Amino acid sequence: MQIIKNIDELKEFKKNNKNKSIGFVPTMGALHLGHLSLIKNAVSNNDIAIVSIFVNPTQFGVNEDFDIYPRTYQKDIELCKNAGVSAIFMPEIDTLYPNGLDDEVVLIPPVSMAKVFEGAIRENHFGGVLRVILKLFNLISPTNAYFGKKDAQQLLIIKKMVSDLFLDINIIPCDIVRDKNNLALSSRNVYLDSASYEMALNLPNAINKAMSLVLANTLESKIIENAAMACLAGLEVDYCNVVDYNLKKIQEIQKRNSLLIIAVRVGKVRLIDNCWF
Ligand code: AMP
Repeated sequence: MQIIKNIDELKEFKKNNKNKSIGFVPTMGALHLGHLSLIKNAVSNNDIAIVSIFVNPTQFGVNEDFDIYPRTYQKDIELCKNAGVSAIFMPEIDTLYPNGLDDEVVLIPPVSMAKVFEGAIRENHFGGVLRVILKLFNLISPTNAYFGKKDAQQLLIIKKMVSDLFLDINIIPCDIVRDKNNLALSSRNVYLDSASYEMALNLPNAINKAMSLVLANTLESKIIENAAMACLAGLEVDYCNVVDYNLKKIQEIQKRNSLLIIAVRVGKVRLIDNCWF
């Protein structure tokens, strides 16, 4: 497995692997089994797989956890090597943003998708995500790019970018990986102490409740949202809404075009989860 730090090395790597299908998994590192499922998918379904590890400053707000975001590079490298990854791309900030963060062309996702839910709380978050993902797509030219359904809003906005900008890349959504108690794996779960962890389990309970209602053909959004909210008692809920794939709130679930998205705070830790109907 090659560890690539700069763009010339990346170009050389691509030259040596011309005409091969490339599976690409963009990450911010601190890899866990959720990332690993994306990586395994990329390894199995492409000639070569590339994982990027880059904590992207432009998607963090000023009061967010950029400086303390967990960085476990050695462990990440081992995990990728064991999974059969061909190359890890680990650029420095200057490598991806050679003209600085404030003096270059940026991408503005549609307000209707990017200023709601996560975007209402995290200013310019999705603009920063698109900025770095488009740079990575242009540098890597993947055939298939793998994203977790865990970050539903991110996935839907990236799909929108790919469609609007005619990018020739397949976006492959991957199922949410959960721990033994059903909590969705997240690099931020390390911030949960044991009491907070117990509280956080209300989140997957809410998801399960919603899913079981929908499976029993209860499709009215209000009923689903209220049932989920009842499970979230004791947590500070940022949002709990049924939406369509354009992130518009809808009154009734349409199967294969709707999801329930939830964000809560457990103490200082903010957690998101969702289910796709
Ligand atoms: P991150 O490193 O948090 O930017 O995540 C990199 C990718 O892994 C994103 O596409 C996430 O949606 C995905 N991911 C993170 N956690 C999970 C999970 N528990 N299950 C599936 N995918 C995940």
